Amino acid sequence: MTDDSSNRNHDSSRRRLIQAAGVAAVAGASAFSQRASAAAPDAPDGTAIPLADPKGLFPHPPFSAQPQPWPGLASKMNLRPDHGEQSYRGNGRLAGRKALITGGDSGLGRAAAIAYAREGADVAINYLPQEESDAREVQALVQQAGRKFVGLPGDIRHEAFCRKLVSQAAAQLGGLDIFVNCAGRQHTHDDILDVSTEDFDWTLKTNLYALFWLTKAAIPHMPPGSSIIFTSSTNAYNPSTNILDYSITKAGIANFAKGLAKQLVKRGIRVNAIAPGPFWTALQVSGGQTMENVEKLGADVPMGRPGQPVEIAPVYVQLASTESSYMTGQVVGVNGGVGLP
Ligand code: NAD
Ligand code: MG
Repeated sequence: MTDDSSNRNHDSSRRRLIQAAGVAAVAGASAFSQRASAAAPDAPDGTAIPLADPKGLFPHPPFSAQPQPWPGLASKMNLRPDHGEQSYRGNGRLAGRKALITGGDSGLGRAAAIAYAREGADVAINYLPQEESDAREVQALVQQAGRKFVGLPGDIRHEAFCRKLVSQAAAQLGGLDIFVNCAGRQHTHDDILDVSTEDFDWTLKTNLYALFWLTKAAIPHMPPGSSIIFTSSTNAYNPSTNILDYSITKAGIANFAKGLAKQLVKRGIRVNAIAPGPFWTALQVSGGQTMENVEKLGADVPMGRPGQPVEIAPVYVQLASTESSYMTGQVVGVNGGVGLP
């Protein structure tokens, strides 16, 4: 580096990050705002986030063991995930768009919902009735962004509900041009002999059948230019030993996105999937992982930490936007450096 002022800015950003990390660790409450506080005073105009070493951003393991009953609440996590509540800045990239996001109450879906609203889209989210309090937080955030919010609770393991969900979203939004599937079921079992037919059916119904039903219901509403975004996983390519049934579905989702993309070009609809690595979300602490794995979440990826949902939001935005008009049938990794096949 030859530019002393860059060095000074970088150093002061790092100091603020370290201070913020210290505050978060002491408070034991939230992964929020480490990037937001780093962004604030000396960020150049139009730059939301200054230069920062990604390894130093956000909390690192060890985390505290914190079992929650399924489906888990983001609001009860220690640390609370950062979904961009205090940091995501929109630039009108999705102005006037109409999005349905399943699993939009928490985790990656909430990060997408916040980002979409701040980029100018109206947002409908689906979630389970047990997640009403998390969904209310998303409602407040979408409405604070000046956008319409539609909350549609219900269980996507039922075909009739999937059809109703899509038709209600389209009716209440006045159309539909973005469909994001973030709802997912992940439950840890160390041994295949412990996976019951009921467990297997639950995972496949949530992750694959519902996706099939929802996608079929959504397509007729979607005009040319619309975007469908599925949520796969690094487990699609490199399955963990304790979530075999889940990994099968995530491989199926990636494959579904690639094949459907070819078919839907004729309608002018793009289809892509995102394949996240380990992210700090309610799914992990509500049966998705052993508490031993939660405590060390992200330790085994090159970045040495889990992603925070806000770190994947820009990819959901990019794939939804017409900026990505030549991008379809892709599986995009966001995984702290483990790579794709
Ligand atoms: P999350 O728990 O915050 O979100 C998952 C959501 O799925 C829940 O909020 C819930 O509303 C929804 N859901 C589950 N079963 C449902 C059902 N039967 N009916 C309706 N909704 C249901 O966790 P997350 O990590 O943000 O998960 C979002 C997606 O990301 C999932 O598809 C997950 O497989 C995927 N993913 C997560 C990670 C990670 O490390 N967190 C990694 C790769 C992929
Ligand atoms: Mg949830």
